[in-house]
Amino acid sequence: MPNHRAAKITINLDALEHNFQQVKKYAAGSKIMPVIKANAYGHGLIKVAQCLSDADGFAVAQISEAICLRENNISQPITVFQGFLNHQQLQQTIQYGLTPAISQIWQIDLLEKNSGDELIDVWLKINTGMGRLGVQLNEVSSCYQRLEKNKLIKKIGLMMHFANADEPEHLSNKKQIEAFLTLVEKYKTETSVSNSAAIISQLYTQQNWLRPGIMLYGASPLLNKTAQQLQLKPVMGLRAELIAINYLKEGQSVGYGDQWVCPQDMPVGIVNIGYGDGYPRHADAAPLMVNGQRCVLVGRVSMDSIAVDLRHIDAKCGDSVECWGENVSVDAVAASAGTIVYELLCHIGKN
Ligand SMILES: *Cc1c(COP(=O)(O)O)cnc(C)c1O
Repeated sequence: MPNHRAAKITINLDALEHNFQQVKKYAAGSKIMPVIKANAYGHGLIKVAQCLSDADGFAVAQISEAICLRENNISQPITVFQGFLNHQQLQQTIQYGLTPAISQIWQIDLLEKNSGDELIDVWLKINTGMGRLGVQLNEVSSCYQRLEKNKLIKKIGLMMHFANADEPEHLSNKKQIEAFLTLVEKYKTETSVSNSAAIISQLYTQQNWLRPGIMLYGASPLLNKTAQQLQLKPVMGLRAELIAINYLKEGQSVGYGDQWVCPQDMPVGIVNIGYGDGYPRHADAAPLMVNGQRCVLVGRVSMDSIAVDLRHIDAKCGDSVECWGENVSVDAVAASAGTIVYELLCHIGKN
């Protein structure tokens, strides 16, 4: 599909590499598998994997993403969070040497029906409180035994995921850790626990594999810290162009639903990006930068355009507008839209 949209995405690979080095500072001997699901959070699956070539491994959600990495000569271990969903995907898991996370008993049934002599590693994913993918605590022992007996399997690791890592003091974190530690002591095998928020708040430090996602892309995973405070650099830049300047009178309204009314005679700029491009429709008074000057979005976001308050701004048509990136924090734009950075990044960078 040709891209007809005027909005331009730039990816700063130096910033990505810088953020990866930041993760390493927390690693204390753990290996790192950058999480590059959802087209590397919209940044480009292959580009990101190639840039992070000295990562110990990678993680994706679905097998198609893992196969795409292999077809582009990415040779590190690749964890697939959803594992295989049927016999054919199990065959591909083996063929491409992938590392599935096992979270359902029927996946173990499928493994036992398979004959073949290539060996794979697996993660046994455990529900310690996230309640999403993971075998239940009372199923772990029988699942582990079955996996241990399976000749196809070389190594079984234990994996869990926090539900409230963005609030380090949340009580559920402690409960999840306690449940997991019991299993770690029993099985004494490889472990993987922490996403970005848990890495930075060092919720759980004794593990073999860290799984950072959002921090690699330069956004803050914590509710009370900015990316800048965490020394993370934004990787994605999103730019569009100022295509109109209207000099409106006091009392005139801007955009659908008359949501914004000029408080005085003033210039209002129109920028050629909207929710059709992936800009969040619910953004309310989001920050922007026009020709290097900070300004604010006014009125509702349209499909192909947004409006900006140009009072006290030196601007002309054709000026470049930063919607987020180096100067306009994507965290602030997400907050103005009542959503999370993850959604903004994935949405704008769908492949
Ligand atoms: C997406 C995901 C991660 C990465 O989370 P971030 O908050 O982006 O660091 C880690 N582990 C699992 C299981 C995930 O689904």
